Amino acid sequence: ARQCGGCQLQAMAYSQQLEFKRNKVKNNLKRIGGFQEIEVLPVIGMEHPWRYRNKTQVPFGMDKTGNIVAGFYAGRTHNIIDHEDCLLAPEINRKIIETIKNYMNQYKIKPYDEKSQQGIVRHVLIRQGYATGEIMVCLVINRKSLPKAEQLVEQLKQIPGMTSISYNINCENTNVILGETVVTLYGPGYITDFIGTIQYQISPQSFFQVNPIQTEKLYETALKYAGLTGNEIVWDLYCGIGTITLFLAQKAKMVYGVEIVEPAIQDARKNAEINQIQNAEFYVGRAENILPEKYKKEQIKADVIVVDPPRKGCEQTLLETILQMQPKRIVYVSCDSATLARDLKYLCKEQYQIEKIQPVDMFPESVHVETVVLLSKLNTKQHIEINLDMDELDLTDAEKKATYQEIKDYVLEHSGLKVSSLYIAQVKQKCGIIERENYNKPKSEDAKQPQCPPDKEKAIKEALKHFGMI
Ligand code: SAH
Repeated sequence: ARQCGGCQLQAMAYSQQLEFKRNKVKNNLKRIGGFQEIEVLPVIGMEHPWRYRNKTQVPFGMDKTGNIVAGFYAGRTHNIIDHEDCLLAPEINRKIIETIKNYMNQYKIKPYDEKSQQGIVRHVLIRQGYATGEIMVCLVINRKSLPKAEQLVEQLKQIPGMTSISYNINCENTNVILGETVVTLYGPGYITDFIGTIQYQISPQSFFQVNPIQTEKLYETALKYAGLTGNEIVWDLYCGIGTITLFLAQKAKMVYGVEIVEPAIQDARKNAEINQIQNAEFYVGRAENILPEKYKKEQIKADVIVVDPPRKGCEQTLLETILQMQPKRIVYVSCDSATLARDLKYLCKEQYQIEKIQPVDMFPESVHVETVVLLSKLNTKQHIEINLDMDELDLTDAEKKATYQEIKDYVLEHSGLKVSSLYIAQVKQKCGIIERENYNKPKSEDAKQPQCPPDKEKAIKEALKHFGMI
């Protein structure tokens, strides 16, 4: 673990890891978000926090003595450390890597060398469906085709659960693992897995959450927080292959998913189709462009908005649009509690308040933590309503000392007389404390205006004196 750097918390007891993560979220909300006394729920952890990853990308290389090595990069380097097993990955990976190494040795197929850019096999991508056990192997190669591919397929096929074998072409001098083209050697080109009752087809390039057990808990929390009854219009921003979208669609009237990566949206549409979900629609583009466009041009509304942005969080312009659309609830799913805190601070300036903060441990042994936050729109009960009497508007300094209502109350209390705003205005005018035009005056010059009787005038003057206005 020390050489790899991926499992930063491996030396900590799991219960302590969960406390560490809860504190991390709490501290970020406090220091960056300015939320002082806020309750962060205990982190939802795993019963067995090992072998949870459904996806592994193993770099291949050669050591100084010419042996093929496959394992992980030493922390912050591109030096490959050979290893037989990773305790976060399925055990079957050992067998798969061993089979590929044997094939490479047998047919003298060289691993890729980053310095000279020679050699063939760069990485092996392995995915395993959690519910289905289906396995996908994809070799990333520095060639247009894979030599002795049939022989490799023959050997890999022997492994139980092997469903899809392919290679991906990446001839670039780059750190990016996958190239654009995938050639299928065996099987349908994808594996199938389930989260809850929803079925997903996953191809080598698809983004799919890596911890399926915790993903279900995460999505269930998001769905619960969305509080759907079947009548809502919901937006799922940063939807990837539509995983959360399809979860929400089960309980919403209509769900709109927005995602920047086009192939992900193609997967999302296909996943909606295979699950026979008709109330989900997907748009390709930036959430911060699509949402304002749909809201301003097409007046599409939102009862609930779910966001699940990458680590950098949401663009401020998107948050502005969300505030304008005034959904009843906002569900923020975050993989970085620092940017989460920044965005919550913006959303909670006036109209929204935090209801619940639920961290979920998607990556045991690492420092990472996912958080689901429910925000609700402040309802009118919590607004202050102010009735402004027309008379109270446009006041001069002397007038400001007491309102018309205060004068009326004072007069009633001290003389038992009821006086109108008109009489107060007339007395004020007499005393020289109304400098503006009196709008209580009748519209026409000849119209008769009731004049304040002397007893009332006296009582009003006393009130004006009392309030220090004359
Ligand atoms: N909700 C999905 C994916 C979350 S990952 C799931 O749970 O599986 C975040 C996603 O946001 C990625 O798929 C990424 O491609 C996408 N993304 C990044 N920037 C974006 C932007 N500006 N607008 C829309 N999507 C974006």
